[in-house]
Amino acid sequence: MEGDFAQLQPKLKPMYVMIDWDETMSLSPETFLAIFQLFKEIQLKPMVITLRSPNDSDDILSWVDKSDVIFTSGKQKKDALVEAGIKVDQVAFWIDDAPETIPSHSGIRFTHEKPKEHWFNKEDIKLHCLGIPHSQKK
Ligand SMILES: [Mg+2]
Repeated sequence: MEGDFAQLQPKLKPMYVMIDWDETMSLSPETFLAIFQLFKEIQLKPMVITLRSPNDSDDILSWVDKSDVIFTSGKQKKDALVEAGIKVDQVAFWIDDAPETIPSHSGIRFTHEKPKEHWFNKEDIKLHCLGIPHSQKK
């Protein structure tokens, strides 16, 4: 009976934790492997995701199984994730010293782009804090 109940439950998608290698896990691989175990105990699936290519991986693969590593070869991490067959919403969270490497290429906005209407710049925020409506800005 209990087994029937378990079989009737919808299969949950695994939730991943994406962990950068360089200047993140590489700082203390032993510690991160211990953290991997803690994540697994709460049904999270830790994986390493790195901007490196597979031919620059000896140090990584001495610690982590190849099946648990995504090599982006310089691509933005969310783009490489999708190519690896993992949906972005299957990631519970990221651990990365360079979060700017995570957004998909199409999601990046460069500072030289003209700000959109709904975006605030520092001057707008200062005026807002002073109680001066945006439209009165000279
Ligand atoms: Mg890094």
